Amino acid sequence: MNSSQVIKAWGKILTGGYPSLSIEITRECPLRCPGCYAYEPEHLNGTPLRQLPDKKGDDLVKGVLELVDEYKPLHISLVGGEPLVRFRELNSLLPILNERRIPVQLVTSAVREIPIEWNDLDLLEIVISIDGLQPEHDARRKPATYERILRNIEGRRVKVHTTVTSQTVERAGYWEEFVRFWSERAEVWKIWFSFFTPQIGGDDVEILSPSMREKMISELLELAGRYPKLYFNNYIAEGYRNPPSSPDECIFSSTTINFSADFKTRVTPCQFGGEPDCSQCGCMASAGLTAVGNYRLGKVVPLKSIYRASKGVGKVLRAS
Ligand code: SF4
Ligand code: SF4
Repeated sequence: MNSSQVIKAWGKILTGGYPSLSIEITRECPLRCPGCYAYEPEHLNGTPLRQLPDKKGDDLVKGVLELVDEYKPLHISLVGGEPLVRFRELNSLLPILNERRIPVQLVTSAVREIPIEWNDLDLLEIVISIDGLQPEHDARRKPATYERILRNIEGRRVKVHTTVTSQTVERAGYWEEFVRFWSERAEVWKIWFSFFTPQIGGDDVEILSPSMREKMISELLELAGRYPKLYFNNYIAEGYRNPPSSPDECIFSSTTINFSADFKTRVTPCQFGGEPDCSQCGCMASAGLTAVGNYRLGKVVPLKSIYRASKGVGKVLRAS
C-alpha cells in the first residue's frame, strides 16, 4: 500500500466501512484438498458451502458489482471454491473492476489455464495455492498437479502461496527446495507462506506445534535473506509470534468483509469462518497487519490503539 491508499483505508474505517471485500464467487471446486476450511461444516456455521445457491453468468457479474457498489472497497479478493470454474464470468468482470481501478486478488489452484488476456489487467494479482513440493502437492491437490499448474501459468505473472502443515516442517531442506523451485520460475514474482490455522479445539493432523511454528519462522527469515522472491521479514515474524488473541483484536478480520457464494451469507469472523483459533493463526495477511498494528507511532503510541479508536468512531458514525 502506498500512502494515499493508507489514507483512503483510514477514511473508510472512520466512516464505518471496510477497506477490503472478499467474495467466494462459486461454491464449486473440482479439488478435494484435505484440511480445506471452505468445505468444513463450521465454515458457514452449519450450512455446507456446496448447498448454498451460487450464481452464474450475468447474475454473478451483476451480484459482484452490486456488492462493490454497496461497500466501495479499496481492495477485492475473489476466492472459492475454485474461482476459475467461473472463468467466463471473470472474463467479463475483471476488466470492469480494472477499469474502475480497484486492485483485485484472485486466489486459484490453477486447475485450468489462466486466460492470457488477463495479462493486460494491471491491477489484477493472481495467487496460486501450492501445498509444498510435487509429491505432497499432487497427492493433496490432484487434478491441479504441478505439471498442470506449470502448463496453466506459462507466460503469466503470478504469486505463489503455500500453507505449511505439520507433515513437512521437520524435513530437512524441504522448504528451501520449494522456495528455490518457485523462485526459478520466470512467471513467479512473489512467494507467500501461511501456516495451517485450526478451529478452536481442533485436532487436525496439519496443526503445527509451537516448536514447529517457531522453527518455520526462523527458517523463513533465513531463506528470505537468500531468496528475494520470498516475502517474509522480522515484522511478519513478530506478527506470527504474537497473533491476535481474538477476532476483535485482529485488524485483518475487522477491515475485511467476507461474503460466501450466494453473495448474502457472511463468512465470519474472518475468511476461515466458524471459530478459528486466533492463538494459532497462520494467516499471512493477519500476521502482516498485526505487525503494522504493533508499530509505535513516534515510538510511543501503537498504531493498533489509533486503529481501535478510529474503528470506534466509525461504528458511531455508522449507527448515527
Ligand atoms: S482448491 Fe481451495 S477451495 Fe478447492 S478444495 Fe482445495 S483448498 Fe478447498
Ligand atoms: S485472521 Fe487469524 S487472527 Fe484474524 S480472526 Fe481469523 S484466525 Fe483470528
